[in-house]
Amino acid sequence: MIAVTGRLLMVVLAVALIVLLFRMLIGKSRSPRPPPEPLPELPEELGYVLANPFEVTSPAVVEARAKRLPCRRCDGSVRVEDHQIEKVADELLRVVTTRCKQFGHEDRMYFRISGV
Ligand SMILES: [Zn+2]
Repeated sequence: MIAVTGRLLMVVLAVALIVLLFRMLIGKSRSPRPPPEPLPELPEELGYVLANPFEVTSPAVVEARAKRLPCRRCDGSVRVEDHQIEKVADELLRVVTTRCKQFGHEDRMYFRISGV
């Protein structure tokens, strides 16, 4: 009788342990880390949308112009991170990626070189 009770106790403990482990696993998978809060969408202003680029007369002024514009999220100053030429609907546009110096907000501007 003692041996049977001992075995039963072992089984009960094993089951309890399995249930506990299972709950820990479920608990972990049920509470994933919340995603980082997305930044609010910015309005589609002139120069910041592909369909409505800034018009400039020379590629030489593109970066200077981009740097002069403040960060749209915090109004701080920005630096140019990247400057590329992209072909959009048979037209070459300058695409400038900027990053604000204070908080690192990234933004993208589009320029059309006209009047050449
Ligand atoms: Zn900023």
